[in-house]
Amino acid sequence: MDPKIYRLSRRTFLTDLGKGVLGVALLGTAACGRSDDPTVAPTAATPENATDDGASAELAIRRVDLGFVSAYVLVRGNEAAVVDTGERGSAPEIDNALDAAGLGWPEVKHLILTHAHPDHIGSVEAVLGNAATATPYAGAEDIAEISAPREVAPVGDGDDVFGMQVISTPGHTPGHISIFDPVGSVLVAGDALFNQEGLSRPPERFNADQAQTDESIRKLTSIDMDRIVFGHGDPIDEGAAEALNRLVVSL
Ligand SMILES: [Zn+2]
Repeated sequence: MDPKIYRLSRRTFLTDLGKGVLGVALLGTAACGRSDDPTVAPTAATPENATDDGASAELAIRRVDLGFVSAYVLVRGNEAAVVDTGERGSAPEIDNALDAAGLGWPEVKHLILTHAHPDHIGSVEAVLGNAATATPYAGAEDIAEISAPREVAPVGDGDDVFGMQVISTPGHTPGHISIFDPVGSVLVAGDALFNQEGLSRPPERFNADQAQTDESIRKLTSIDMDRIVFGHGDPIDEGAAEALNRLVVSL
């Protein structure tokens, strides 16, 4: 086994045990396609109908590689969403990613928490303190585990945040959510899937309900996606649906 992967996995494990809580990462609330005009259909975002304010522009995804876990800065025009926060102390690295995108905290309108494990929600208070106008979102069943300075909006199947579709993927935690950008054909999987030693389900010792975890992975095969980004592991940049189908056969 690659010793680096081993160390990272073990660190994650100890972090989970040490805090003793399930953390919700970042997920957006329903019907928040754009902050200034909720009547605009969020999924209508294509380069062809992009406007000057960028509300309909294509989504750019920036990985905030925190070592053993990744957060993401999603940028559409002049607006950003942050997905997950890393553990405590990670806000400066998210700030760096925003800076690299030419944006700052005032442009962060959404904080989407995939689930309430501490390596995903450890910097929620700092991020929301910096992003004063951002709405935090998470799956309803994980919200009680999240310490946040303002109310976290519950989201699940059928909801839409920042032009992305929320998909309930419970099992790793009861309220785990993933999000899918239909324009870029990208799934932001959180910990519904791992990609540390090839695409896999999350290690069983981390999961609240293994059968439910597997069922959520099967559910994701209904999406015809090209790419997946993960909480743990490198992105899959092409052929993601085929890789996912191969995984499901092995479950
Ligand atoms: Zn997790």
